[in-house]
Amino acid sequence: MKCILIICDGMGDRPCKQYPKTPLETANTPAFDQLAKKGICGIMDPISPGIRPGSDTAHLAIFGYDPYKYYKGRGAFEALGAGIEVNNGDVTLRANFATINPEDIILDRRAGRKIPEGDEFAKLINNLSLNSATEVKITFIHTVEHRCVLKLEGPNLSHNVSDMDPDVINVKVQPCKPLDNSPEAKRTAEILNEFYAKTKEILSQSPLNEKRQQNGLLPVNGILLRGAGIIPDLQTLDEKYHIRAAAICGAPLYRGVAKVVGMTPIYVPEATGRVDTNTLAKGQAALDHLASNDLIFIHIKGTDNASHDGNYEQKVMMIEKIDAMVQLLLDNLLLEETLIVLTADHADPICVRDHTADPVPIVMVGENCVLSDDVDVFSERACAKGGLGRIHGLDVIPIIMDLMDKTKKFGA
Ligand code: ZN
Ligand code: ZN
Repeated sequence: MKCILIICDGMGDRPCKQYPKTPLETANTPAFDQLAKKGICGIMDPISPGIRPGSDTAHLAIFGYDPYKYYKGRGAFEALGAGIEVNNGDVTLRANFATINPEDIILDRRAGRKIPEGDEFAKLINNLSLNSATEVKITFIHTVEHRCVLKLEGPNLSHNVSDMDPDVINVKVQPCKPLDNSPEAKRTAEILNEFYAKTKEILSQSPLNEKRQQNGLLPVNGILLRGAGIIPDLQTLDEKYHIRAAAICGAPLYRGVAKVVGMTPIYVPEATGRVDTNTLAKGQAALDHLASNDLIFIHIKGTDNASHDGNYEQKVMMIEKIDAMVQLLLDNLLLEETLIVLTADHADPICVRDHTADPVPIVMVGENCVLSDDVDVFSERACAKGGLGRIHGLDVIPIIMDLMDKTKKFGA
């Protein structure tokens, strides 16, 4: 038995005055409903009831790793997902190219988002040497749009430092502070503060910005840092269950989480991590790689993007695009041989525009191994009546592994 695990980011929703039906209830989803009809449905608290998950902590939990124990900041996931090597002791951070004024007030957290010169800007900063820590090697790379990753490599570093990105505009960049009393945290905060000051100077003087301004674009003159992280020390899925797992993700963060738990990334050029992604190309890639893997994780980000934008129609459209991918899978694989699991990493209701703690729907389908129930529609409300009941994110992989016959008996 093999498994395709599909996680649709932020797909869960809740009704509101303007939209009495959730996007899942409105969308035309014949393939999702077929899964519900054939499989066992339920609802899932990604972390725990009442806990609003981040995408990183939610994915860790759904992959079977207690985030309270294994979550060590988002930075390492971002870096790994961007293709940077991260070793024990390295501290990595998510970075944004931003536009600030001379008083360090943030004017645009993403410097207009359109940064075709991103790689050239990053080159000015990569390998920078700092007075506060000459022995620390700095790696700085640009990924997509305004997004970058910073890696600090050297002795006595800590990820226990505060974010410099306040997440809003028209306020000052926050100075980095140590979050514990260790000399490592104090030193790392000093390094990051110097990094900020020095890079601000380098970027402001760059002729690349003159060109940007001539083209009516905002200058890239500051770097906002957040999510300092280290690589968590854990047993991979292969070590725990002796399975070969692979991941198809457009967005680097998810590829990073998948890598940490031992999944091999499968790169699909048409997977963008946005609403314009090609879900059929992702489904086809899963089919193409199923023979050489036991489990394939497919991540779809667009549902969460539409949710943060409060765009109901776009979320419905994204759900229908994922439904088409599920149809492709159903048309091309045998449910006697492959389990399909469909869920979300958390709710992101249109009316809230952010992650909430609502449980999300989940369905597991496989012939001759799953005890199906009477649910025949895949939605938040319908799945609440299903045979899986209400489970935790941490339960998902153990249930899948049991259905795939990969677990050992507990007791005699
Ligand atoms: Zn998410
Ligand atoms: Zn989100």
